[in-house]
Amino acid sequence: MPKRVSTRRIKANRHYQYDEAAEALELTYQTLRSWRAKGLPVMTGGRPHLILGEDLIAFVKAQQRPRLKMAPDQLRCLKCGPTRALDRVVFYTAYTPQRGQLEAVCEVCEGPSFRFAGASSLAEMAQFFEIVRNNPSQG
Ligand SMILES: [Zn+2]
Repeated sequence: MPKRVSTRRIKANRHYQYDEAAEALELTYQTLRSWRAKGLPVMTGGRPHLILGEDLIAFVKAQQRPRLKMAPDQLRCLKCGPTRALDRVVFYTAYTPQRGQLEAVCEVCEGPSFRFAGASSLAEMAQFFEIVRNNPSQG
């Protein structure tokens, strides 16, 4: 979704046909149709097909949520998104000689957090983390 789309004119409890929704969002009919394939819930039981305003608002907001980018010293927590490792300790498990996964305890929720890492990037990672190798024989 390249431009900001305002859902201001969408009412949560109203049903919209594709063309009505497109007009309210100032988008094309084709764009609205394409959203169905991308996961927008559409009621296809009758004619015309209808979209619940609430679903439309939720879909647009989900599309606009900024992609979570990780800094070099971050991992991805299942709950918090990008996060830092508790005490900067991470455990490296090699899947292949070239690739593996870093796992740490999230410093926010203390849940598991992960990041894929190439073996060649471990030296660089070592400036941010204390890396413990789970299986040093393969690493
Ligand atoms: Zn967390």
